[in-house]
Amino acid sequence: MKSHDVVIIGAGPAGLTCAEKLAKADKKVLLLEQNEIIGPKICAGGLSSHGSDYPGLPDKLLEHKYKKIIFHTPFNKAIIKLNKDSIYTIDRKNLGQWQLSKLKKTNAIIKTKSRVTEIKKNHIIINNSEKIRFNYLVGADGSTSIVRKYLGLKTNELNIAIQYVIPTKKYKNLEIFYDSKLFHSWYAWIFPHKNYVSIGCICDPRLLSLENLRKNFNIWLKNNKIDVSKGEYQTYPINCDYKGYRFKNIFLVGDAAGLASGLTGEGIYQATISGEEVAKSIINKNYVSKKMDELVKMKKRHNKILHLVEKSGPFRKVEYELMALLLKSSLMNKKIINFIS
Ligand SMILES: Cc1cc2nc3c(=O)[nH]c(=O)nc-3n(C[C@H](O)[C@H](O)[C@H](O)COP(=O)(O)OP(=O)(O)OC[C@H]3O[C@@H](n4cnc5c(N)ncnc54)[C@H](O)[C@@H]3O)c2cc1C
Repeated sequence: MKSHDVVIIGAGPAGLTCAEKLAKADKKVLLLEQNEIIGPKICAGGLSSHGSDYPGLPDKLLEHKYKKIIFHTPFNKAIIKLNKDSIYTIDRKNLGQWQLSKLKKTNAIIKTKSRVTEIKKNHIIINNSEKIRFNYLVGADGSTSIVRKYLGLKTNELNIAIQYVIPTKKYKNLEIFYDSKLFHSWYAWIFPHKNYVSIGCICDPRLLSLENLRKNFNIWLKNNKIDVSKGEYQTYPINCDYKGYRFKNIFLVGDAAGLASGLTGEGIYQATISGEEVAKSIINKNYVSKKMDELVKMKKRHNKILHLVEKSGPFRKVEYELMALLLKSSLMNKKIINFIS
């Protein structure tokens, strides 16, 4: 049986970051990805300001840079000004390929078309046949993680997001739409890219089933005169149920760890940071990660807001209108942004 210091399952932003950091520290790393091509992922590709923590992220990857988000409610429209911070849109295939090009400069072994089908105490099984022994295992395998299942962790907060990817340059602004009647405590978005736009919405299926979310999304598309006839419909879950990242010699990162925000659905930043921090924890057993603590704090803050909004019932629509009015004041705008980020 072949053996590696660290086996990482999943080559999304979390796995790729983790693999690069470990390989640079001379760890014998094997990165396994079930898909043939690294990068593509159902995602709106919004990278918020703290996403500029990607060291050396080349400008050419940043498709659009936004200093403001247009915030819509049924009766109001406000501008969220981002001050010094910005939000970018990036294409996930390009991001993955850029991370891969950096990883290829190291000694890490990357195997695509390699689906991990089983996990045992000290080894994994690829494509139901090949066994690989590990000292450390990193689950970077996203929201339906096999590693998380092996650890016996239940996932209760599993949001569902749907989007159309439409080949058009018609949309110029980054926009979010809160409508309690259609999306409960969540929202619909318009995220323009260079050659396409992602238009989608998100919800917790415990509060609004996928079927009803789809129906409501169609109503919203019609109300906003959005033509999706040339778009590709996509849907995927987002795991927001964080239950820890370190389990003896097994680690979880990114969506596998449930680090995505339940409030915003954002997860690329959390994936990257956790990938890097877990690598540091494997390199140095005594490493204490302040950045992981910060991620968890941010998650708790987001959950608090979300639970308040969820519990508001009929007052939620009033809260959204109030929020739009508050955002019109620059002082409140700053406070709200600081609290969420
Ligand atoms: C519709 C939608 C829109 C979103 N929009 C945004 C956004 O605008 N901004 C943002 O920050 N986040 C967004 N997210 C969330 C974001 O996509 C994730 O948080 C992020 O991709 C998590 O990265 P990751 O590396 O943890 O996992 P992933 O990117 O999911 O990567 C996991 C990898 O593991 C592989 N894999 C899985 N199982 C196995 C297996 N058994 N064997 C081998 N390989 C395996 C997968 O093929 C995949 O390549 C969105 C999500 C959705 C669904």
